[in-house]
Amino acid sequence: MTDAITEPRSVLITGGNRGIGRSIAEEFLRRGDRVAVTSRSGQGGPEGALTVAADVTDGDSLDTALKAVEEAHGPIEVLVANAGITDDQLLLRMSDDSFEKVLDTNLTGAFRTVKRVIKSMMRKKKGRIVLISSVVGLYGSPGQVNYAASKSGLIGIARALTRELGSRGITANVVAPGYIDTEMTQALPEDLQATYRKAIPAGRFADPAEVAKAVSFLASDDAAYISGAVIPVDGGLGMGH
Ligand code: NDP
Repeated sequence: MTDAITEPRSVLITGGNRGIGRSIAEEFLRRGDRVAVTSRSGQGGPEGALTVAADVTDGDSLDTALKAVEEAHGPIEVLVANAGITDDQLLLRMSDDSFEKVLDTNLTGAFRTVKRVIKSMMRKKKGRIVLISSVVGLYGSPGQVNYAASKSGLIGIARALTRELGSRGITANVVAPGYIDTEMTQALPEDLQATYRKAIPAGRFADPAEVAKAVSFLASDDAAYISGAVIPVDGGLGMGH
């Protein structure tokens, strides 16, 4: 089963100091892995994890952080690209700057991180990559042209990677959460939160730990034959998309 620990692995989660990323880090710690997380301040990861400073929009900062992780824990065997932002605005009011900032963090940031860890996975002929997308990348959402574009782009990355590296023991999958109870959704106006709750068949937002379970499964040996998949954790919101 998924809880059976084989060897402890070197796991990296970007944006693991809070929200969904932190929950994912706690899940891997519970399984006995060597867990590192990034945050922009270099602080705030869960107890037992190595926290390093990295901004995914800055290749040099990522490089320095990943070197520190590799020195402490060995080459990264499981990467969870989770760092992400929103900057919502209706299209007519959305600036180029807002579009580019969200793409640079959510999509190019994941590309930079994957590219940095992939060589050692190829050498080992083993690796797990999980990209945190969103139901919004499949379903759309008004005011989120930038965010939706970035999140559907992650599916393209996972599927292209699967075709490039599928024969080398590396899997690349996407988890598409719906509305999860974190600072990102707590920032939404109350009436909008109520509207979303009504639209979700499960009738509630999820706990971040519910996303962490899906990520942990995709990173396990049990999921060796799952690659290029998009796993929704959305209470049924995005069904069929
Ligand atoms: P939070 O806003 O709670 O946390 C965001 C995380 O991303 C923080 O750790 C933050 O680090 C990090 N981050 C943001 N920008 C950068 C950057 N430039 N470089 C490095 N790290 C950065 O978000 P959630 O936990 O809610 O979301 C996590 C992921 O899940 C995101 O990709 C989000 O899009 C996705 N998601 C969330 C949903 C939800 O309902 N909450 C639904 C669907 C998807 P720092 O603390 O340093 O700012």
